[in-house]
Amino acid sequence: MVTEYILGLPVDVITLDSIMEELPERLAQDEKTIYMSINPQIALHAHNYPKIVQLAEEASHRIPDGIGIVKASQRQGGNITERVTGIDLMLSLLDYANEQQESIFLYGAKPEVSEKLVEVITTDYPNIHLAGVIDGYTDMSDAQICDKINEVKPTFVFVALGFPRQEQWLAANYKKCDAKVFQDVGGSFDVISG
Ligand code: UDP
Repeated sequence: MVTEYILGLPVDVITLDSIMEELPERLAQDEKTIYMSINPQIALHAHNYPKIVQLAEEASHRIPDGIGIVKASQRQGGNITERVTGIDLMLSLLDYANEQQESIFLYGAKPEVSEKLVEVITTDYPNIHLAGVIDGYTDMSDAQICDKINEVKPTFVFVALGFPRQEQWLAANYKKCDAKVFQDVGGSFDVISG
């Protein structure tokens, strides 16, 4: 995978198709996958958060999320030609999880959004095993949330806490949580729940 640096942050030259093509093999090999969206907001502000910069360095995939990232790449003679939005990736991962009867864990968003999302996923993705749901305003500690994840060992964990909370949470917790794939999804729970 080719990596470019935009405002000091790594971004990978990848497309939604290439991500989805390699996913089955990554899952089979039990490699931990972190899909971290790099959007212009993060590129501009991440330098204020050293742990988020470190997460970007460690993440398996730094997703070019936004036309601003594509343009920045092109301005510096790079090869990022396609934006991959967090929501498009999440929807593709949900389709995959539904086809393969994989389990997912949802963490984030307001309680009412989280409840509505559960209804939508149960209806639209009947083969997904919904292993756990925690809203983003819970009193639970990070350790308690990781315990919940570790009880069910989901394939996918979607984290919707907005920037910078979701990146900070991932940076502090992904190594402790027994799941295969993590994605920070910003406001996607709100969009998918309608
Ligand atoms: N959110 C959350 N807990 C928080 C702050 C935000 O669960 O403490 C959720 C919020 O309800 C929304 C998502 O994070 O579902 C994205 O929030 P926002 O739109 O502010 O972030 P952005 O998409 O701009 O990064």
